[in-house]
Amino acid sequence: MAHDERGVTPQGEDFSAWYNELVVKAELADRGPVRGTMVIRPYGYRIWELLQADLDRRIKETGHVNAYFPLLIPESYLKREAEHVEGFSPELAVVTHAGGKELEEPLVVRPTSETVIGEMMARWISSHRDLPLLLNQWANVVRWELRPRMFLRTTEFLWQEGHTAHADEADAMRETLTALGTYEQVAREVAAMPVVAGEKTPGERFPGAVRTYTVEGMMRDGRALQSGTAHYLGANFARAFGIQYTSEDGGQEYCHTTSWGMTTRMVGGVIMTHGDDKGLVLPPLLAPYQVVIVPIGRGDQAGQVLPPARELAERLTRAGIRAHVDARTHLSPGFKFNDWEMRGVPVRLELGPRDLAGGTALMSTRLGAGKSAVPLDSAPARLAAELAAFQELLLARATEFRDSRTVTVNTWAEFTGAVKAGWALAFHCGQAQCEAEIKAATAATPRCIPADGPPAQGRCVRCDLPSAYGKRVIFGRSY
Ligand SMILES: [Zn+2]
Repeated sequence: MAHDERGVTPQGEDFSAWYNELVVKAELADRGPVRGTMVIRPYGYRIWELLQADLDRRIKETGHVNAYFPLLIPESYLKREAEHVEGFSPELAVVTHAGGKELEEPLVVRPTSETVIGEMMARWISSHRDLPLLLNQWANVVRWELRPRMFLRTTEFLWQEGHTAHADEADAMRETLTALGTYEQVAREVAAMPVVAGEKTPGERFPGAVRTYTVEGMMRDGRALQSGTAHYLGANFARAFGIQYTSEDGGQEYCHTTSWGMTTRMVGGVIMTHGDDKGLVLPPLLAPYQVVIVPIGRGDQAGQVLPPARELAERLTRAGIRAHVDARTHLSPGFKFNDWEMRGVPVRLELGPRDLAGGTALMSTRLGAGKSAVPLDSAPARLAAELAAFQELLLARATEFRDSRTVTVNTWAEFTGAVKAGWALAFHCGQAQCEAEIKAATAATPRCIPADGPPAQGRCVRCDLPSAYGKRVIFGRSY
């Protein structure tokens, strides 16, 4: 079906086409020359920067410090933790030649940094007084991707990876759950994504982890997006890399370590949680421009309106609002309205000669139906309130959507119906074979055992064995 060159395929017609077109047309990203790679354009990168700044602040507030580790890792490091290398082998990019000759030992482009950081932790930690060691790094990683999707699955992506070492399991588990809580808060409070926090089932664990936790968001097609994960690694990596400390009574002990990450995938999460058939809908806290001012008028009139529009933008900027004047003279106001709608700007202000004479601007929000006059004098306070309300509206709307598509099920028929449109809350036996059968039949996988789900016992929705987790599990199709 042909669509307006400026528009996107409706979500209901083809959600995947909607997403791919929007990413390009809203100028968030473009395909890179190497298959699976992505160029993040300034508008998309600004969204990431805003999320990153907030997450970085929270990571520091919870006691972590940033460091930076090398991109290239000796291949032998990955082999030291058996499950880790097995899990990552199919996705590794390996450097075999450099400086014009074959290397004695191949180097892996980091898919994640547990190994190299483990090696360094072993050098830096010797006493219980060195613990806990709470590190984070902002970096790019490479995981060779056979089915790339911009922001969601790309061969190279950006993220933060937290890596910490602790004296015992209790402290490492506290840390794992702190990181998970940070992700839940960032998703909810900044991205307006009402994620569900919980533990992964054994089959969905990170390679080398003892326990893996996740925050899962529901996208507008009902699929789940794993939006951040935190892993308790036990002493697996400590044993592989010799991360040991002398305890207070003089004994040699292995550390317990954790790792946790949130990635540029969150930009994809924002697009698919809030976007509609007109395009992007951005939470104000992540919007590169929170308010766009469109001067209205032709010829001389345009010249008269532009200086007051700029003055208004300056006043908004001073009040902490990211405001932008669309001064493009070759485009009609109608084109500009559609353009900023496509790009998800939360609030638009029109300023024409008649508005100016009346001392007002005409305001509309990205999801609102009508327009209302805003007095120029009180515009900064009024717009700050509008933006806060818009942020709340998005979270409420996404929460309502998620809840309306999450169904508690007890039969297989109910299960298959629920995961076609969204999530099923079901009992499961915990058997890997049963999980695989469910996946083969419905494409749904266990997303998490929700942390705040009430304790309950029942029979597996697929095979009727007793449930394994003491509560219902969320199943859904995922990205
Ligand atoms: Zn079962």
